[in-house]
Amino acid sequence: MKKLSVRTNSRIEMLDITSRIEKMVKESGVTEGVCYLFVPHTTAAVTINEGADPSVRSDILKELDKNIPLDDNYQHREGNSAAHIKASIIGPSEIVPVDSGRLSLGTWQSVFFCEFDGPRSRTILVKVMG
Ligand code: ZN
Repeated sequence: MKKLSVRTNSRIEMLDITSRIEKMVKESGVTEGVCYLFVPHTTAAVTINEGADPSVRSDILKELDKNIPLDDNYQHREGNSAAHIKASIIGPSEIVPVDSGRLSLGTWQSVFFCEFDGPRSRTILVKVMG
């Protein structure tokens, strides 16, 4: 398992990590298989969605914020329940097929690290399996 370190810059953010994952796939030497991504955090997540139009990202974040308010008389005392809930909805992992040494993403797909309680230094675990 390799580690990818990212630094987020906002409270909520979707960071396009596609090129960094592609580089790790290339370095693994695996040509046919899968790339497994896991986010070992409780207030961050990983997802795959449109990377071409940045407004898709901002719409996703806007709707998450609208549906999961920052303050809703949550019981969790740390004060970041909204971030925990968003992280569970989006989820901590993704699996992408690897073909000819590249991620088999659709034309418009990108891999996004999702920050819900930033800014922070974060880690993504990456395992490329042949
Ligand atoms: Zn918490």
